[in-house]
Amino acid sequence: MSKPVVAIVGRPNVGKSTLFNRIIGRNFAIVEDTPGVTRDRNYAEAEWDGKKFLLVDTGGFEPVTEDPMYSKMREQTTLAVEEADFIVFLMDGKQGLLPADIEVSQRLRASGKPVIYAVNKVDGEKHEGFLPDFYRLGIDTLFPVSAQHGQGFSELMDELHRLLPKAPPEAEEKAELPRVAIIGRPNVGKSSFVNSLIGEDRMIVSSVAGTTRDAVDSVYQYYGKKYVLVDTAGIRSRGKISQGVEKYSVMRAMKGMSRADVALVLIDAAEGITEQDERIVGLAHEEGKGIIIVLNKWDLVPDKEQAFKRITTEVRQRLKFADYAAVVAISALTKQRVTKVFDELDKVIAEREKRVPTAELNRVFEKLISRHEPPLYRARRVKYYYATQVGIKPPTFVVFVNFPDGVHFSYIRYIENNLREAFGFHGSPVRIFAKKRREANEAREGKPRRRKERGS
Ligand code: GDP
Ligand code: GDP
Repeated sequence: MSKPVVAIVGRPNVGKSTLFNRIIGRNFAIVEDTPGVTRDRNYAEAEWDGKKFLLVDTGGFEPVTEDPMYSKMREQTTLAVEEADFIVFLMDGKQGLLPADIEVSQRLRASGKPVIYAVNKVDGEKHEGFLPDFYRLGIDTLFPVSAQHGQGFSELMDELHRLLPKAPPEAEEKAELPRVAIIGRPNVGKSSFVNSLIGEDRMIVSSVAGTTRDAVDSVYQYYGKKYVLVDTAGIRSRGKISQGVEKYSVMRAMKGMSRADVALVLIDAAEGITEQDERIVGLAHEEGKGIIIVLNKWDLVPDKEQAFKRITTEVRQRLKFADYAAVVAISALTKQRVTKVFDELDKVIAEREKRVPTAELNRVFEKLISRHEPPLYRARRVKYYYATQVGIKPPTFVVFVNFPDGVHFSYIRYIENNLREAFGFHGSPVRIFAKKRREANEAREGKPRRRKERGS
């Protein structure tokens, strides 16, 4: 249910992002190439031998300044440690053990969290010379590795696998109650929002322990319907600790979101959308969560009607990849329209679980294909045979074609827009994959070829 967070920590240049890429490269499939979403990606969902986790490259959080490296790293490491469940501490076998490594390792030990000590860039015998040095850290096990070339990699990953909690059984993943994550940058009003709900009489029925140590979820009841609010205790209690280091809100968002069906992304309406908000929404989008943009602090916004138009336009523009997101304006402070969020929530949950009958789907599909000729692929026609919905949460479709490589992103987008027009999916991402239709099927089924084929 809850995915543990694994952070790669270490000095700049030890190879953190190289290791990160190697870990996710093995099984991370980028679903779509959305501009803006994958840029400076330093967190990802990963899996090793059936165990899923969220991987964070803390190097991605290094501010690009000329600040003294140590203090930045210290801050960074502290934060990473605070958020992570497991830590891979990476050092540099080419450089040997440096004072900064010793300092970091002391902090890590003080945290009490499980740490894997790894020495990178051990690609050849000449780099092994430094290894004994690292045992001065007082550790039992050291993992020499080459993030670049792969030596020692599977040993490292097997160790991580050993530490990670057992994968939950299938059944547990299917939570009966809808799960909602309240996320957003520091200070947008997350805890105020949660508190405003608690103030209501119909609020929190009970608390249920999340599977990660520190997460406590709450059950919220609204007009007889129940929702699990993910990590409410965390939202209410923390905040002070790492405010100021905004980028960490992404990590937090990621953590909460991994267990949710729908993300309520709070945005400070008085401030407008920031890059960090974009990133958080991008994350929800990539993870296939339902998305509701909650414009909070609406009480501070003058000329509300005008403002709502302006800001929803801004939402559609800045968050183009998630232009399906639902938008609600509230004030956590005055409690205005706070419960309105739950009406929206019901809709989004339903849309994310929607199944479209195949016949209906293909009626729409054939129409859209014939209306707008797909682009050629290496001077050959890309044929779209039919579409089928293979999943929900979020709705996922496969379109069968002759050349999957020839399916252009923009055409997928075109298909998506048409499916949305026909079937909605308001507030939910939609996934569309192109698959090659096997020749054998083609022959056996003897589907008539599309008439229009020659007429372009
Ligand atoms: P980060 O700053 O910790 O994220 O480090 P990077 O992943 O950006 O790597 C820093 C440099 O070390 C790059 O030039 C990498 O090519 C190099 N590097 C990373 N891993 C290895 C390795 O296993 N062996 C060698 N020889 N070089 C590596
Ligand atoms: P969090 O860090 O996202 O949990 O944000 P908080 O709930 O701690 O709120 C940050 C600040 O914004 C606090 O001073 C709140 O009183 C204020 N705030 C939160 N919601 C609203 C709102 O709807 N209107 C106004 N005017 N202020 C708000």
